[in-house]
Amino acid sequence: MSASRVVVVGGGVIGCMTAFYLTRAGVRDVVVVERDHVASGASGFSAGILTPYSGSNDAGLLGLSAASLALHAELAKELPEVTGIDHGYDLKPYLRCGFGEVGLDSARQFLADRRAEGLDGEWLSGEEAREVCDWLSAEVAGACMTSVEPTVDSRLLTRSALGAAEMVGTSVQVGEVVGLAGSGGTVTGVELSDGGVVEGDAVVIAMGPWSNMAGEWLGFDLPVHPQKGELLYMHLPESDAGGVEQDRPSATMHNMDEGGVILTRRLSRTVLGATKEDGVGYDREPSSYAWEFILPKVQRLADRISKADVTDHTACLRPMPADGKPYVGKAPSWENVFVAAGHWSEGVHYAPLTGKIVADLVTSGESDVDYSAIDVARLAV
Ligand SMILES: Cc1cc2nc3c(=O)[nH]c(=O)nc-3n(C[C@H](O)[C@H](O)[C@H](O)COP(=O)(O)OP(=O)(O)OC[C@H]3O[C@@H](n4cnc5c(N)ncnc54)[C@H](O)[C@@H]3O)c2cc1C
Repeated sequence: MSASRVVVVGGGVIGCMTAFYLTRAGVRDVVVVERDHVASGASGFSAGILTPYSGSNDAGLLGLSAASLALHAELAKELPEVTGIDHGYDLKPYLRCGFGEVGLDSARQFLADRRAEGLDGEWLSGEEAREVCDWLSAEVAGACMTSVEPTVDSRLLTRSALGAAEMVGTSVQVGEVVGLAGSGGTVTGVELSDGGVVEGDAVVIAMGPWSNMAGEWLGFDLPVHPQKGELLYMHLPESDAGGVEQDRPSATMHNMDEGGVILTRRLSRTVLGATKEDGVGYDREPSSYAWEFILPKVQRLADRISKADVTDHTACLRPMPADGKPYVGKAPSWENVFVAAGHWSEGVHYAPLTGKIVADLVTSGESDVDYSAIDVARLAV
């Protein structure tokens, strides 16, 4: 099918990246309908790690993951040139550190798995790891180092993708979508809570953890549920005179014994993460649990964290899919509704590829990407 006007529901990284790729595919009238503000959900508060290590043995997912990473590398050059927004793309070493048997085994296993997938990595002794990053505590006994996991500021990436799309015909409409307009498996737009309708020849559902609500409109269960995640941002008081630069470690560090990450990012303070809480609904309040959960784990990685001030604390919701994989593609039994949901803890990473696949499907009915591993068609009853 071809569509001259496309309505994208949701102004997160998935919706905005879809708008971007739709404009690239030649659609000159895209309306992003967002009830809050762009990147107000997880897309504005993620850790922003782009990793080809999906943690899944699903061969289909691994291929998609690498393809999206390649698109990110292109966007890192293209988007800042077009929009003037630097979204902080950066590549620093990633150290998965072990203290005792559990963590060391897990880091070694991680390295073996990645090598089996044809990806690269290096084993370092504790001493060698401390040469890479002098933040690491003497207690770290060994680490797997990789150098292929960039970071971005996902809020700026979302803004920049939207900005590029806005230059060629995309607009944002503030409003809460409460249903689909149309009948017989064909939509003519979306209905808003104020009674209005936004008309379109095609509709894309990109509502993050709220996408399950669209299942009611579509007539099938779209099993995406919220998983709460919190991050802390830190600052070392004694480096104040030198500014943020001295607050930033030369590598990202991950505690493989207990979990917990110290994440270095180019455009923000150092990030400490992250919690993963299921079953707390749509609660987005930062909680003391995050301090209790995160701080001991990251302090073990780097003693200096005990001297740091926590300057910011965010909480948001990952869109968690029932079977662990995103739902992307044409909605079963619908002519012109498309789904881009359930990207869980990797939505920033997958956003460019998802945007491209959906844009391909909307404009030509097919995609040159083999997306069968994440095809929403698997939900067809
Ligand atoms: C702590 C944490 C760390 C993370 N770290 C990473 C990471 O390192 N790398 C990575 O790739 N991913 C990471 N993620 C996951 C990533 O943030 C998400 O997968 C991604 O942001 C999801 O994007 P989205 O556009 O699907 O959803 P969202 O960002 O939630 O956007 C959905 C939008 O839809 C809007 N909306 C919903 N319902 C309606 C409606 N009815 N009408 C109109 N608008 C509506 C919402 O207001 C919202 O703005 C992390 C997540 C968390 C919580």
